[in-house]
Amino acid sequence: MGEFELIKRYFLRPERAGQRDSLVAVGIGDDCALLQPRPGTQLAISCDMLVEGRHFFSDVDPESLGHKALAVNLSDLAACGAKPLAFTLALALPSADPAWLAGFSRGLLALADLHGCELLGGDTTQGPLNICITVFGEVPWVNGQSQALLRSGAKPGDDIYVSGSLGQARLALDGLRGSIKLSPKTLAHTRLRLERPTPRVALGLALRGIASAAIDVSDGLLGDLSHVLTASKVGASITLEVAIKLISNYATTTGTYEVFSSQLTKKCQLGLVLAGGDDYELAFTAPASRRGQVEAAAKQSQTCVTRIGQIDAGQALRLLDAQGQSVPNTWASFDHFA
Ligand code: ADP
Ligand code: MG
Repeated sequence: MGEFELIKRYFLRPERAGQRDSLVAVGIGDDCALLQPRPGTQLAISCDMLVEGRHFFSDVDPESLGHKALAVNLSDLAACGAKPLAFTLALALPSADPAWLAGFSRGLLALADLHGCELLGGDTTQGPLNICITVFGEVPWVNGQSQALLRSGAKPGDDIYVSGSLGQARLALDGLRGSIKLSPKTLAHTRLRLERPTPRVALGLALRGIASAAIDVSDGLLGDLSHVLTASKVGASITLEVAIKLISNYATTTGTYEVFSSQLTKKCQLGLVLAGGDDYELAFTAPASRRGQVEAAAKQSQTCVTRIGQIDAGQALRLLDAQGQSVPNTWASFDHFA
């Protein structure tokens, strides 16, 4: 199978071209794709790369990998409150393995279709397995102002929220590496969170005009929240007694607490929640006067949200125990070059 046969077989879907509500004027097949932004909108653009051995194990199920490669990109759009439109795929493959390609494209395109996000081009080359996706999304431009959610909008007094659950992906990673012993049921449950994360696109859209700042949690809550604080030039405090519950929240409003939290020490749970990584939840801020609107946005998007702290006028991120006393921050977020 040659390069062009591969693209045609696994990534080109002419039958869908007639179905799209097309902002994609020209898709796969020419030197450039053409994307036609609607009047009164801005394009939101983000790029994420997945490298074998760094971001995933070499034996990971290809269908899950296809899902995750797009999910991590859609998560960035969600954090900006952008509606997914289209994406490109740059793929380096050691060989053209039909079974692998079929699984990968199935997982990738199923998530793409779920979000109406069209594959409009890419590049394919032989080499060590590497997947690079660029997504394009849309945000309204109203009265000379962008409706995008940015990291820089948090204000003293704002509440801090996190969607879904945190720490389960990292728990699965530790389980797979053998550094922690998990029951088969817990491993199966948390592994889904690691390998098939749910980008919070609907929540991001519902939070437009309500949240003051947002970020997606990919490297660990404390590190990612610090980016919001730096960009917004504010401080914050987080109540650990509340944050720790994020370890066992189910991903949706059906939330009850999972049994596995009883298998872990409190210290371990906190580490997973505060610095786990690979969660792809949204951390966001909103004025306290908008609590009702945040609740409505969560309900509308069928995503549970938990209020874990507050923005202040300081410069630090403080962690508080149940008595409101400061606890030293000893947790480090993931950094590729640290
Ligand atoms: P060029 O050499 O002009 O860059 P290519 O031969 O690399 O074009 O690609 C041919 C067409 O196939 C282009 O439209 C490109 O966007 C598309 N394409 C290449 N690889 C992929 C891929 N993995 N997924 C989707 N489209 C792809
Ligand atoms: Mg090319």
